[in-house]
Amino acid sequence: MPELPAAVRGFGVTFSTMFKKVVTEQYPEQADRFPPKPRFHGRHQLNRWADGLEKCIGCELCAWACPADAILVEGANNSDEARFSPGERYGRVYQINYLRCIFCGLCIEACPTRALTMTNEFELADDNRADLIFEKQDLLAPMLPGMIPPPHEMVPGTTEQDYYAGKVTGSVPAQEPRGDEALWSIVDGMPAPGHTAPAAASGQEESS
Ligand code: SF4
Ligand code: SF4
Repeated sequence: MPELPAAVRGFGVTFSTMFKKVVTEQYPEQADRFPPKPRFHGRHQLNRWADGLEKCIGCELCAWACPADAILVEGANNSDEARFSPGERYGRVYQINYLRCIFCGLCIEACPTRALTMTNEFELADDNRADLIFEKQDLLAPMLPGMIPPPHEMVPGTTEQDYYAGKVTGSVPAQEPRGDEALWSIVDGMPAPGHTAPAAASGQEESS
């Protein structure tokens, strides 16, 4: 019977598989045993320069590159009173809609300043739509030692080209905010991230 050897070989594969090591990954119980590969495309991150200023210049190239229309960017001008990034513009509003994102990575390829990259974080499931629209504060990279929370000046004596050339390696004391008014964002009338509103501007000024 010509079919018999093939059938026997087929059962042979089944039989030998029974004795192989099980490769089932126990998730989430043993999630740390199976970390994503370094180049895995997970949640996005808006990066900072070494002194804490933001790399995003609000150019919207990432939004235009996105095939799923998942990114919303609104740029605004920096000023001497409220500087969030080196140069002229910064990203005032930045949203990524993870209900739409397909994690293709085209946005990070389009970014001219490497402001936008993707982390390995993949646990993005949620039980409602609103929490899957990430705002700028959800995407900004954490403050590291040596950084000062924006807004603040650039390192004295440098230009934005120096930042892009990697010549700025940290903050200097001269960049520390000079007072409450230096912490106050003139944009939207909101305090800068990580700061509370100045008393006068918030209507909480104590009478003397
Ligand atoms: S990874 Fe792709 S789909 Fe997601 S925001 Fe970027 S360009 Fe859009
Ligand atoms: S993340 Fe990059 S591409 Fe997108 S607005 Fe900011 S600088 Fe432009």
